[in-house]
Order: sequence, then C-alpha cells, then structure tokens
Amino acid sequence: MTSTLDPAPTPTPSYLIVGAGAFGVSTALHLKARHGPRADVTLIDRHPLASTTPRVAASWDWNKVVRADYADPTYCALALAAQDAWRADPAWRPYYRETGIYWISNGERMEGADGGGKGRHGESFAQRVMRNFEKLGRERDGVLREVPVQEARREYGGLFEHADYGTVQTVLVNRSSGWADAKGALEGAIARAVEMGVRYVGAEVEGLVVEGDRAVGVRTRDGDVITAEHTVLATGAFTPLLLQRAAESTGRADLAAGGRIVAAGVTTGLTTLDEQTAARFADMPVCIQENPPERGASNGSLPPNENRQLKWWGQCIFRNTQTTPGGARISAPPLKNDYAQWEVPEKLKEDVKYANKATFGEIGERWELEQYRICWDAVTPSQDFIISPHPAAAGLYIATCGSFHGWKFMPIIGDYVAQMLEGALAPDLAARWAWDREIIDTARNKVWPRTELRDLL
Ligand SMILES: Cc1cc2nc3c(=O)[nH]c(=O)nc-3n(C[C@H](O)[C@H](O)[C@H](O)COP(=O)(O)OP(=O)(O)OC[C@H]3O[C@@H](n4cnc5c(N)ncnc54)[C@H](O)[C@@H]3O)c2cc1C
Repeated sequence: MTSTLDPAPTPTPSYLIVGAGAFGVSTALHLKARHGPRADVTLIDRHPLASTTPRVAASWDWNKVVRADYADPTYCALALAAQDAWRADPAWRPYYRETGIYWISNGERMEGADGGGKGRHGESFAQRVMRNFEKLGRERDGVLREVPVQEARREYGGLFEHADYGTVQTVLVNRSSGWADAKGALEGAIARAVEMGVRYVGAEVEGLVVEGDRAVGVRTRDGDVITAEHTVLATGAFTPLLLQRAAESTGRADLAAGGRIVAAGVTTGLTTLDEQTAARFADMPVCIQENPPERGASNGSLPPNENRQLKWWGQCIFRNTQTTPGGARISAPPLKNDYAQWEVPEKLKEDVKYANKATFGEIGERWELEQYRICWDAVTPSQDFIISPHPAAAGLYIATCGSFHGWKFMPIIGDYVAQMLEGALAPDLAARWAWDREIIDTARNKVWPRTELRDLL
C-alpha cells in the first residue's frame, strides 16, 4: 500500500543505444554503472549476440593501438585516463599488452582541432607529446625518449633497421604505450553489459521514428519499433546514411550530417610468423610509420598476438559514395550485411604490402600476407568525436565518430556520453564534441578520404 508520505515513484529513464561498438558498449556500461536497475538500457546492433562471426564494427579487430601519444593535450589526458583503466581495471587488463610504441612521425599528426602542425617553436611530435606528459604530471623520464634515427635503427634488436625514415630526424619511443586484443575486449564488454542488465537486440535499424520534433526510437528492418526516451546513435561509419534516411523520411533536412561526418575505409592485413621469426619479434613494439607522407596519414604494424599474427594497416583512406533514394550523395560502407569487408581489391592489398615494406624492408620480404579486411569508421573534419544532443530532434543523441583513433577510449568514453545525456559535460568537451561546431577545412585533415573505393577496384 502506498502511504501519502511515500515519494512519487521516479519513472525509469530509458535509453536505446544503436551500435555495439566501443562508443555504444561503453555508454551502456557507464549508464548501468551509474543508474543500475533504475535505468532501462537497450543496445541494438545488426550483429546477433550469439553469432561468433566477425562483426562489421571498426571496434571488432584482432588488435588496436592503445596509446597516449597525442600532440593534442585534451586527447593526451583522456588517453592517459583510458590507459590507467587498461592497466589496472580487472575488466580491461586481461586484453592489454604494454609493448611500447615506435613512432616514425613527420610531426604533422592531427587529432583534435588543436593537434596539427609542427607545434610551437617548431617542436617535433616527440617533444609535443613529452610536453603534454610533463604538464599532466606523468612520468616521462626513461619512459618517453626522442631517439635520433641512426640510433633508433638499432633499437629492438634492429627490427626497424630497414624502415623508410624519409626526412624524419628523430623517433619517439614510448615504453608506456601498447595494444589490446580488440575483439576480446569488445566481446567481453558486451557480455558484462548484458550481465549488468542491458537488453541486447540483434537487429538492423532501418530508420529513426520521429514524432514532431522528438525522436522516440527506431524501426528495424523487420518492421519492429523500439522506443525509448533517449535514442543514442553510436553507429560508426553507418551514421551519416542513417541520418540521411531520417532526413528523407521526415522531410527534415536538418537531421542529416552534411559535412560533419564522412564514412571512410582503411585496409588491414595479417601475416602468421613462423616460430623462429615470432621469437625474434616477441618484444616488438607497435610501430606507427608516417612515410612516405604522400601515400597518406600513416601505416602501421602491431606486434604478433598469441597466434603469432602480425597486423598492418595501410595508408590509403577512401570513401564509398552512393546515391540515396532521395538523391543525396553519401559515403557509407557497402550495403551488404558484412559491409563487404572481406572483398578487398588488389590495389588495397598492395597498400598493406607497402606498409610491410615501409616498416620492415627486407626483413619482411618473404612474408605471406593474408586475411585482408576493410575497416570503416566515421571521421569528422577535425578528428574530434561527436558526443552531443542532435539539435534537430529532442531525445536524439550522437556518440561516435572515432575518426580512426577512438577505440582506445572504450573503458572511459561512455562516462562522457552519460555526462552529455545529463547535460553535465564539461563546457570545453561539450563544445569540442558538439554537433554544431565549426566545420574546419578538411585540407588539413590527413585522414580525410580523398579516393573513391570504386576507383581502387
Ligand atoms: C583500420 C582501422 C584501424 C584503427 N586502429 C585504431 C587503433 O589502433 N586505436 C584506436 O584507438 N582506434 C583505432 N581505430 C578507430 C576505432 O576503431 C574507431 O574509432 C572505433 O572503433 C569506432 O567505434 P564506434 O563505436 O563509433 O563504431 P563501430 O565500432 O564501427 O561500431 C558501430 C556499430 O554500429 C552498428 N550499426 C551501425 N549501423 C547499424 C544499423 N543500421 N543497425 C544496427 N546496427 C548498426 C554496427 O554493426 C557496429 O557494431 C581504427 C579504425 C580503423 C578502421
């Protein structure tokens, strides 16, 4: 029986998160950690929970780089916080390997509107990162080193002796960076979210349900409608197309992403090392290689995993522009259930082979490369995420746009999404990750796709 003195029951807030990648799963975990059973959280993804086939998510991968080497101070601080969780939190620690990182950088990196260029007084990338570590009170002595190229060639038993150093003068070696088992960490996080009471729905979202000025949920390909007070799109590379469909079905052009987001692809490939070579590479760090700069932002390689698989990503970044029923021209992953992620054109396989050559030269000449995959991500002009209410519809939120560097933040990013949902995000982050912010010139953005996938076939 309810007494007149009992407070009125608080309605349970409901959240529908579309996309079980790093951003969506992290959001689900943090919402449940904050609100427990008081929040009704649904995570919907086209990938069924029980399926063991590879996901299309950029967040599904053999491994991903986990680093705090950012020229941009904000992302450096966030990445250090994420790395603390990777190191210490029992939920994340099993997936993390602190192998160190070896940066062959031309100093032109740019993540975040503030990250680009050579830095003040012509500082190198290494110097900018070291300055950030120092300002943030993190140990850098003996952890981060700026090593002249001639000396660097001898590091790690000469693994990078034959790399292409181009005009690079110094290499940044950071002992405190590394990588993580991406699929293990993602699947582990999804399983934890379900254990915490998150409802997982395996379904393709066809469109948004918008009533008047309010988004009330989504419609699946099977015609089911799922509603919630808050609909959060964490849909990665699919986001611009989903928003465009919503714009076309409602006649509300302001729902579309316009120049804010582009779906962009990069190719990865693996080799399986023989036991002898794997032993030589056992202490290999991650290597990020920005040479030759005219081929694109960077290629890179990750140390062998427990299956002796060494992975590269290529330098070519491309879009896949298609025409929507309403006549808009939008880049989106190929419209197959698996994003055609295993259908890799020869030119893109060559791009990954080139990454091997640029980093290992003659050491890697006889390696057989295999399991090529195209990985799609949502990229913004400044490479800043979008974590923001969508101003065109109440109840609609965006939490994605990892811009090729978002995965490492999985342990913490959902906390910021939860803050955004409460209207409590710190003003500097709210401005930086806003839907409505200056759309800067993409000419400065090295990861902005400038090639069409169809031209690579
Ligand atoms: C080749 C490559 C290498 C990278 N390397 C690194 C790295 O080393 N370190 C790092 O920090 N970052 C890296 N990144 C970036 C990082 O992977 C991404 O920024 C991050 O994973 C994006 O997470 P997300 O949750 O926004 O999107 P995703 O992981 O792509 O997840 C989106 C999810 O939404 C689902 N979805 C989309 N549309 C629908 C729909 N209509 N219906 C139902 N479900 C839908 C998809 O199935 C998917 O599961 C890399 C990216 C690429 C492509």
